[in-house]
Amino acid sequence: MQNADFDAYRLSEEHEALREAVRALAEKEIAPYAAEVDEHARFPVEAREALVKAGFQAVHIPEEYGGEGADELAACIVIEEVARVCASSSLIPAVNGLGSVPILLSASEELKKQVLPSLASGEAMISYALSEREAGSDAASMRTRARRDGDDWVLNGTKCWITNAGESTWYTVMAVTDPEKKANGISAFVVHKDDPGFEVGPKERKLGIAGSPTREIYFQDCRIPGDRIIGAEGTGFKTALATLDHTRPTIGAQAVGIAQGALDQAVAYVKERRQFGKTIGEFQGVQFMLADMAMKVEASRQLVYVASSRAERGEKNLGFISSAAKCLASDTAMQVTTDAVQLFGGAGFTKDFPVERMMRDAKITQIYEGTNQVQRMVMARSLLR
Ligand SMILES: Cc1cc2nc3c(=O)[nH]c(=O)nc-3n(C[C@H](O)[C@H](O)[C@H](O)COP(=O)(O)OP(=O)(O)OC[C@H]3O[C@@H](n4cnc5c(N)ncnc54)[C@H](O)[C@@H]3O)c2cc1C
Repeated sequence: MQNADFDAYRLSEEHEALREAVRALAEKEIAPYAAEVDEHARFPVEAREALVKAGFQAVHIPEEYGGEGADELAACIVIEEVARVCASSSLIPAVNGLGSVPILLSASEELKKQVLPSLASGEAMISYALSEREAGSDAASMRTRARRDGDDWVLNGTKCWITNAGESTWYTVMAVTDPEKKANGISAFVVHKDDPGFEVGPKERKLGIAGSPTREIYFQDCRIPGDRIIGAEGTGFKTALATLDHTRPTIGAQAVGIAQGALDQAVAYVKERRQFGKTIGEFQGVQFMLADMAMKVEASRQLVYVASSRAERGEKNLGFISSAAKCLASDTAMQVTTDAVQLFGGAGFTKDFPVERMMRDAKITQIYEGTNQVQRMVMARSLLR
């Protein structure tokens, strides 16, 4: 924990040790490159190497597939601590989670054995491909098709906004197998980057998380072996939604990390910056801002930890708590990073300090894995059921 004074929730010793280890690694091996990764919109290779070397790139992969077998709370702690210094880099563990949870939840043992060991060793990364240009919030209206051809599946269509596309080896892809059945006619597949008919598009030019490539991916008669379907035909959309119940808390964790990073920067700055003959941290107006920022960060962190712990226990009806954690934490990250820029004054508006990057990076957490309007729809649906 950043400050034991506002630690209401006791983590286990293992979780605390993990946080310390990831924080040390992030500060030493990821933070020094964060500004330059953002400036040049380049993939954070140093972060990937450091995370793989320490075994933090996909801690949730079970031991039987060569992984660490860490729980969902531990996965959140890794993402949070990396995001505290570099949000782009935190998408390495976050999207390894997002892409592989459908496999963990629903794939055959053979498919798990094909994919998961390469994620555990760090040899490969995986992306998650649900969204299309015309099917974002309404993801079930997707057009990408998969049809059987002998023993194989043949995919046609375009997915967009795919995080880490071009860097990943594996892609978990949702596609329509029976258009008549709407959401129940969607199936999930695993595509390899070398499968014939698969291609990645150019990088999107973005407001934030510039170091994490976001691209379209194209399937032109892309042929994959029959055993690369995840679960039974027609269960892909259910698997995609069940995945989000587990991974929305990880986006919450990313948001908490970004917010904590901005708060730490702001606390350090107000102790140094002097105006009217005093440090600005001596002004009550500034103190109240800091208190509100820290209060919201801690409330968000607790909700993220509760949501991930409940997901780990496999509780039913995770929709409300997962959406609440993602929504509160990302709204908090946006507010806290904006306030951090404010506390830096003019300096906060320049690239000489990291808070403007954190503010730009925070914005995406309100948009992806379902916009915060969609999170509120999920929460309201659960209340009114
Ligand atoms: C950088 C980045 C990375 C991404 N990574 C991935 C990824 O790896 N894999 C993947 O599959 N997708 C990814 N996405 C896609 C992301 O999940 C979608 O952008 C998001 O779900 C919103 O869809 P949309 O962009 O089509 O917006 P739209 O659905 O067009 O929404 C536009 C606006 O309308 C609002 N809106 C829509 N419907 C409703 C409603 N019923 N009620 C109220 N408001 C509504 C939305 O909240 C939003 O404010 C990524 C997106 C970005 C920008």
